[in-house]
Amino acid sequence: MNKQHITIIGAGPAGLGCALAASEGGAAVDVYEHHDAVGGLCRTIDHHGYLFDIGGHRFLTKHRAIDELCSRIMGKDMLEVRRLSRIYYRNRYFNYPLTLGNTLKNLGIIEAARCFSSYLIAITSRGADEHPQCKNFENYVSAKFGKRLYETFFKGYTEKLWGIACDEISEDWARQRIEGLSLRVALQQALWPNTSETQKNLYEIFKYPRRGPGQLCERLRVTAEAQGARFHLRHELKSVHHDHGRVIGISLLDRSACAVHYVPVDTLVSSIPLPLFTEVLDPHPEDKVIEASKRLSFRHYMVVNVIVNMRDVFPDQWIYVHDPSVKLARIQNYKNWSSSMVIDQNKSTLGLEYFCGDDDALWSMGDIDLIEHALSEMGKIGFDCQRHLVTGFVVRYPHAYPMYHIGYNADRDIVLDHVRSFENLHCIGRAGIFMYCNMDEALLDGITACEKIVRERREGMVR
Ligand SMILES: Cc1cc2nc3c(=O)[nH]c(=O)nc-3n(C[C@H](O)[C@H](O)[C@H](O)COP(=O)(O)OP(=O)(O)OC[C@H]3O[C@@H](n4cnc5c(N)ncnc54)[C@H](O)[C@@H]3O)c2cc1C
Repeated sequence: MNKQHITIIGAGPAGLGCALAASEGGAAVDVYEHHDAVGGLCRTIDHHGYLFDIGGHRFLTKHRAIDELCSRIMGKDMLEVRRLSRIYYRNRYFNYPLTLGNTLKNLGIIEAARCFSSYLIAITSRGADEHPQCKNFENYVSAKFGKRLYETFFKGYTEKLWGIACDEISEDWARQRIEGLSLRVALQQALWPNTSETQKNLYEIFKYPRRGPGQLCERLRVTAEAQGARFHLRHELKSVHHDHGRVIGISLLDRSACAVHYVPVDTLVSSIPLPLFTEVLDPHPEDKVIEASKRLSFRHYMVVNVIVNMRDVFPDQWIYVHDPSVKLARIQNYKNWSSSMVIDQNKSTLGLEYFCGDDDALWSMGDIDLIEHALSEMGKIGFDCQRHLVTGFVVRYPHAYPMYHIGYNADRDIVLDHVRSFENLHCIGRAGIFMYCNMDEALLDGITACEKIVRERREGMVR
């Protein structure tokens, strides 16, 4: 049998996972990445020796094989970090995960009693899963935790993240993110900390590469390269040419040479945003697919990174800003993730995070104005960093969050059915299949796609 050739578009965790598995299995692999570094959203940016994530990235996984792979690749450079994160809301800091004493103190006895009674009403009326109105995020969370807790701990941040009202967000988002959370277990943990039940998503310790998730991605690339995979950075997918249900070739813009090349394709794996992929199909799909694809939208992510002349700003790795008085949604403090992220320990590096839509004035604001704006919002919530500013820069990442607005899944299915009809094409990853996932799942998705490709070839299902 001829050596199988796999062409991968995008070198985020999904593309890297596929490249690693395919090259390990002996396939010829070419990876084309638009950016000048691998990692995608998991890149770590080196700014004059100070390291910044695209939003802090915890490494957590339920998949043993992925845990073992990443631990093996990182060795002693995979740190274990004790989590400290809080929620800022109405001039107060709530521990997150919530702790009983801190929550009672911050809410006050009267508000705490109101929250508890609204929780009791919610759980005695009906369980969240069978609640007849659970068609959107607001109903789902209110049915599970009560209206008052929903308003205090979920509404503000969720609306900042998605930019739409919580009753326009599909309940899928709530199911995916908070299905495993339970107030009963949280209370049990607070009162009897040795209880054996653990809460999904509330891990106290997480893993983190010493020099950020980009270090892990870089090592995945080096390992795949040692197995023969070839990485072509600064190459942007421009067209996917197909004939009779098979992809036959792609056109790529080589940004270094400013030239477009045609590359023939045996098997194509794409991790680029699904609607962008659909747009470059040549010939174009039928109108129904194009229309569905256009309705799939994303929330963009923007982070204002600053270096400040302050040894200690706050002790957390990150703070969620639920408070509606500012647009700032989260603040990262990278030296609390790993001291190696900061070369001078007398300074701190902060990531001031925003979620944006295409039309948001912030998304198109100039960098200098943005840095000033973000620092003034920091001032409003009690952090006077402006006068300690050394330097700053802005990172914008479009298509960061697939939008789970109500009805999104019908459109996604139409588009996925179409791309899956090509016998030698596989779409993978978070934006690639329009499904919110973390880096471990993206990595796994790439590896699983490779296994499927090899199996289909072995069984003669693909020409
Ligand atoms: C703010 C934020 C915080 C996060 N925190 C965590 C966390 O704490 N823990 C965790 O596990 N996960 C976290 N995630 C999720 C994690 O980043 C993603 O799950 C993961 O990066 C998805 O990998 P991917 O390969 O599917 O996509 P991506 O990382 O988006 O990679 C896609 C790649 O395709 C490339 N590309 C796009 N278009 C083209 C084109 N036309 N031609 C060629 N290449 C192209 C891009 O440059 C990119 O490199 C976070 C995400 C965000 C937005």
